[in-house]
Amino acid sequence: MTSSNQQINKNTLQCLLLKRFGMAVATYLSISSVVLVAYSCDLFSVPGSAVILLLAAAISSQMAFLGVFVSGRNLGFGDPSLTEVQVLVALGLTTALVAMLDHGRGTLLVVYPMSMLFGLFQLRTWVFFRCACLAFVSFLAVNLYEIQAGITRDLGLAVLQICVLGLVLAWLNLFAWYMQQMRQRMRKRRFALQAHQETLRGMMRQLEDMVATDELTGLYNRRHFLRMAAQALEGLTPLRQHGLALIDLDHFKTINDRFGHAAGDRVLQAFAGVASACLREGDMIARYGGEEFVLLIPDTDADSFLACCERLRIAFSECEPVNVKVPNLSLSVGMTLVTMHDNLDEALHRADQALYEAKRSGRNRSASTWELTDAPAATE
Ligand code: GH3
Ligand code: MG
Ligand code: MG
Repeated sequence: MTSSNQQINKNTLQCLLLKRFGMAVATYLSISSVVLVAYSCDLFSVPGSAVILLLAAAISSQMAFLGVFVSGRNLGFGDPSLTEVQVLVALGLTTALVAMLDHGRGTLLVVYPMSMLFGLFQLRTWVFFRCACLAFVSFLAVNLYEIQAGITRDLGLAVLQICVLGLVLAWLNLFAWYMQQMRQRMRKRRFALQAHQETLRGMMRQLEDMVATDELTGLYNRRHFLRMAAQALEGLTPLRQHGLALIDLDHFKTINDRFGHAAGDRVLQAFAGVASACLREGDMIARYGGEEFVLLIPDTDADSFLACCERLRIAFSECEPVNVKVPNLSLSVGMTLVTMHDNLDEALHRADQALYEAKRSGRNRSASTWELTDAPAATE
């Protein structure tokens, strides 16, 4: 991954974390207003200064978190969202809050699960369990201290509150565990799906290759050539022209008859090898059918095109098919030039006529629709 991509990812993550932090601050603000309501209803067992101190502690903790997020220092931690620390701070403040409350304690116990819910999706099951235990133990400690100090007015109510908090926290733990399992399953499914997609893409590529390729020679097949040639023709401009040639191996039936069909196949493969070696990238050669091939040279003129076809013809006459000795290999070429607004079928027909001319005038030569070449006569 490039450093600019990493920077973009970091910025996106930081944006998301700041949004989550905003939600936490909004929650703090709502709870603070509830605290003020409780204070105005005289539900606290401590003086007002203690409540103000608690609110000040909540504000300063959030200011500290804001500082860490804005400076980007959170990105240096294992968990940049700082969820566990935030949950722990929230639990500490909640314990201080409920410890200060008298009658309203049971009602504000709900702040414990609220603080825990903040870490439901982010914390690992074990960490979530640890936080829940801490919440329970701190509330239990407050109550035990009060019982031991003789502050507790209603022991039954205190026991009930401890049990209810324990139950809610236990249920939250189960829910968090279930959610984690579900997320893991979904992640596995996503990976499996991605792997399947990759396999399918590979198979598609193979199929596309198979559909476009002639099995024996490895060259493009006729269907693929026609599609590509049509596209090439569409891209023509008034000043550009393509060369189109039909190439037919001479006396191929005789090769088959004399040396066998397998030898004939080798000759076809030898032609494919020669053509691939002779032509440049961007030139298109395909097996048109049987021992006939079609060639399209983009952006050419009569002389260069003729030179290219002659080069191919001579190279083929000098080639040696694998494991078979076939003397006097030769081919004939029918060439035409394709200009803008030309029709592919008509151009192929013209090339075929030129090929006919090359065959008629002795084979082993190139003939064109614009003139007949002076290629050397075939050694027959
Ligand atoms: P010409 O010089 O006029 O082109 O004569 P030719 O013998 O090359 O042409 P003809 O059309 O008479 O024969 C072509 C032969 O090519 C007939 C066919 O059996 C053979 N052929 C077509 N496809 C294949 C192939 O895939 N492998 C082999 N070995 N032979 C093939
Ligand atoms: Mg032939
Ligand atoms: Mg033929």
